[in-house]
Amino acid sequence: MRATLIYGAHDVRVEDVPDAALREPTDAVVRVLRSCICGSDLWPYGSMPASEEGQRIGHEFIGIVEDAGREVSGLKSGDLVVAPFVWADNTCDFCTEGLQTSCRHGGPWGAPGVDGGQGEAVRVPQAQGTLVKLPVRQDSELMASLLTLSDVFCTGHHCAVTAGVGPRTTVTVIGDGAVGLSAVLAAKRLGAERILLMGRHKERTDLGRDFGATDVIAERGDEGIERVRELTGGDGTHTVLECVGTLPAAEMALGVARDGGVVSRVGAPQYTDMPFGFEEFWRNITLTGGVAPARAYIEELMADVLEGSIEPGRVFDRTISLDEVAGGYRAMADRQALKVLINP
Ligand SMILES: [Zn+2]
Repeated sequence: MRATLIYGAHDVRVEDVPDAALREPTDAVVRVLRSCICGSDLWPYGSMPASEEGQRIGHEFIGIVEDAGREVSGLKSGDLVVAPFVWADNTCDFCTEGLQTSCRHGGPWGAPGVDGGQGEAVRVPQAQGTLVKLPVRQDSELMASLLTLSDVFCTGHHCAVTAGVGPRTTVTVIGDGAVGLSAVLAAKRLGAERILLMGRHKERTDLGRDFGATDVIAERGDEGIERVRELTGGDGTHTVLECVGTLPAAEMALGVARDGGVVSRVGAPQYTDMPFGFEEFWRNITLTGGVAPARAYIEELMADVLEGSIEPGRVFDRTISLDEVAGGYRAMADRQALKVLINP
């Protein structure tokens, strides 16, 4: 079968690899129908040191179960399923607490010995806990929106949930990438009425407005902070959803938080030190967020996608075949595409 490997910065290749096959009785094999490229894939794409072996990549997919091990119940050949971006048993203590990203028997896609999502098929470890059945046919027009349950929409939702977004909270979303726009949609879904979106790309912030943003702020840094404060009577917002992952974005997040407010980060941090000192202490700022346990949210969010009340799949603005994956990475890295869907 064919699958995507990354060999280093700007070096993504689609190659023949061994067919996905059952290894453990808890495995399933899923033939991939839709996959996509994540903003977080762009970090290794931008900076990974060159390697001889290459590494499988991709962690978002929908597919059809082709085979299931003898310890997998509730799934059978032919089922349409979505996989969250971390596999997990969904039964250990962390999973039971809704933190499947810390599962005692789980792990990431593309790790040594584990397939990546950007390929023709995937061996899914802990299949019974990991996979969620989709009650639609594979020609459903909801496929793109259902694919966002793998990662991007669940990540935006996690950001809003950990920040405590609700009908009485004002919200600033930092970042007009697919996660930022998903966070806007999630905040709106949770009842927020005032959602300020910080982003500079008009076609993206326009989608953000469709998703529920009430104000768009194109300025960044101190100017951006000042603009948000102007729009909020000088105070900033109760909640800040930081969906970029850079230090300037984190600094901006602290700057636009209202005293007593919450900053939640879901952009994978590309820095180690954050200015979280006496000033933030004095202002009673809470810092939260982290990697999203997508598996904890899939059923709840899927219900709204199936009902048609939300359409998170609108973040996809380009569809490519598996053989075009290198170009898809380039397009996302160059900001030519917001989020690329792969139809292998
Ligand atoms: Zn677990």
